[in-house]
Amino acid sequence: MDKMNALVFKEVGKLVLEHKPIPQVKEPDEVLLKVKTVGICGTDVKILEGKHHFRPNTVLGHEFCGEVVDVGTHVRHLKIGDRVSIDNNIRCGFCSFCRMGLTSQCVEIKTSALGVMRDGGFAEYCLVPEKQCYPLPDEIDDILATQVETLATVVNGMNTLLMLPYDYVLILGFGPIGYLFAQFSKNIAAKVAVTEIDPFRISVAKECGLTVWNPNEVDVVEKITEFTYGRKADIVIEATGNALEQALKCVTPGGKVLPFGMDSSILASVVPNEITRWATKILGLYLGQNTMVPAIRIYQEKRLNMKPFFTNVIPLTEGLNAFDCLGLDLATLQHKPKSAMKIVMKL
Ligand SMILES: [Zn+2]
Ligand SMILES: [Zn+2]
Repeated sequence: MDKMNALVFKEVGKLVLEHKPIPQVKEPDEVLLKVKTVGICGTDVKILEGKHHFRPNTVLGHEFCGEVVDVGTHVRHLKIGDRVSIDNNIRCGFCSFCRMGLTSQCVEIKTSALGVMRDGGFAEYCLVPEKQCYPLPDEIDDILATQVETLATVVNGMNTLLMLPYDYVLILGFGPIGYLFAQFSKNIAAKVAVTEIDPFRISVAKECGLTVWNPNEVDVVEKITEFTYGRKADIVIEATGNALEQALKCVTPGGKVLPFGMDSSILASVVPNEITRWATKILGLYLGQNTMVPAIRIYQEKRLNMKPFFTNVIPLTEGLNAFDCLGLDLATLQHKPKSAMKIVMKL
């Protein structure tokens, strides 16, 4: 049987380059993809740290683009040779959440995600259900195509926020998610500022022409008050997972807070009376939701400056080295400053 290279998550702290048999189409609705490119996500880092749900012996990688090389007997909408991006979150289509359009709350969403609970794109080949595949236009290259699902989550955020042209926007955390929100905000809002602690990512924010503050060096509440002529932010996007309290201090009366970053180890204290008194809108949301096609459209029309987004493109065989740049020492599982925004592996 023919073999392929794959980066396999064995257990917490252990990602291994293995030689695995190339998977074969078995289900009638499956396609076999020859993976072209795959991004490394903060979620992959969290899985390795044991801070995200996981399944041992799984090929990681959920941000990928590939070419269809084989199709199951019931596949009707794709053909061999099609180039597609993946929505890695498989929604059942039958639960009441799916059937009422709230697909991000599908009761099965956590059981089957590609690259988390079943084999994903850190491999030369991957089996994917047909309905998870989105054909790509030529204007989106293989590198950008890895970020369709990432943008789809952010588009869900934008749909929820309903950002207005006169809004003041503050984004806490300038990782890939903060970056994408900042690009939209620059296009739409009156004024936007971001916060970040890693020097590399601060330099990327500056390269994008953004106002950026390091919360370890300045008082962000003071800064946002000054920046907005005493008003504070109409919208605070919390893209770190650990700064909800900070976000609530930075938002103006009647404003919106979007807690977007995820870290299940974080607890926060809120004063319910203040949320009521200041009419604060806290808007939770999860993943993308009917937003893959909109994300493709946005990239196709080049609506976002994606140049400084991609720090590095490396081969799969060097993938293990990338985690260091993403702030995780694999040997000790200790955190370190990040020296990359997004790293993509090319197969
Ligand atoms: Zn991701
Ligand atoms: Zn469902």
